Amino acid sequence: MKQVGLLVDVTRCIGCNKCVDACVMANHLGAEHHIPQQEADGLSAQRWLAIVDAPQGGFVRKSCRHCLDAACVSVCPVGAMHKSPEGIVLYDKQKCMGCRYCLMACPFGIPRYEWDSPTPVVGKCFFCYQRLSEGQEPACVEACPQQALTFGERSELLNLAHARLRQSPDKYLPKVFGEFELGGSALMYISNVPLDFLNFNGTLGERPYPELTWDWLSKVPAVTLVTAGLMTGLFWIIGRRMQAQLAGKTQTSQPPEEGK
Ligand code: SF4
Ligand code: SF4
Ligand code: SF4
Repeated sequence: MKQVGLLVDVTRCIGCNKCVDACVMANHLGAEHHIPQQEADGLSAQRWLAIVDAPQGGFVRKSCRHCLDAACVSVCPVGAMHKSPEGIVLYDKQKCMGCRYCLMACPFGIPRYEWDSPTPVVGKCFFCYQRLSEGQEPACVEACPQQALTFGERSELLNLAHARLRQSPDKYLPKVFGEFELGGSALMYISNVPLDFLNFNGTLGERPYPELTWDWLSKVPAVTLVTAGLMTGLFWIIGRRMQAQLAGKTQTSQPPEEGK
């Protein structure tokens, strides 16, 4: 199955936030509230997409990049973060043990945790996977009045992006953000303003983080890894028992079942 993607044309965005509202509606997300431990960029476990002000002007979408070789997927010990056949990075809350390795591993600071819930889960964009399986586009794409967002096969989006750069060289910076960084991502941008603040600052290189991780792991003694694995397993079992007890005592709002 071919890799899908989402192209953001920053020059078309007017900052109306209709894409954010559509995401909240489509995914039945709860009320927004700022968690002190998290970066105040508009993202949270209940906001998987944010429109942020670029330092040099303009409005820019911030959400999961759906890295082609995703660090969050490679570090997840239980396969809760995983890839769909179309290359979308999905999250299975039933498998998640709450270790938050994915939060630490993400080079773009995207996944967010429900710190204030007794049964916490991780929140991030998954390209409205349930809508795709019904033949629809992601809700944000459908809601955008400016056609700033285009969903489709990644290779075709790259052709479209480079065609726009060729046709209007004075309008865009001469690169497709997300084409190569850390091995490339499904979320890509063309823009008239630098996107350094999204970690597209040229220092990441083009080698995926998981490759670097394996280089490091090959130098760690096996006993260390086995011990870490046992500790993680114990943590998971204890955490799940506590969650089950709390769930029995407390009525809480749960995020919707996410695409698997
Ligand atoms: S941006 Fe972060 S959360 Fe999204 S796929 Fe990449 S590593 Fe995973
Ligand atoms: S918090 Fe959940 S999804 Fe993230 S790495 Fe741990 S088990 Fe995987
Ligand atoms: S709906 Fe479109 S124009 Fe409005 S903020 Fe989102 S991407 Fe920008």
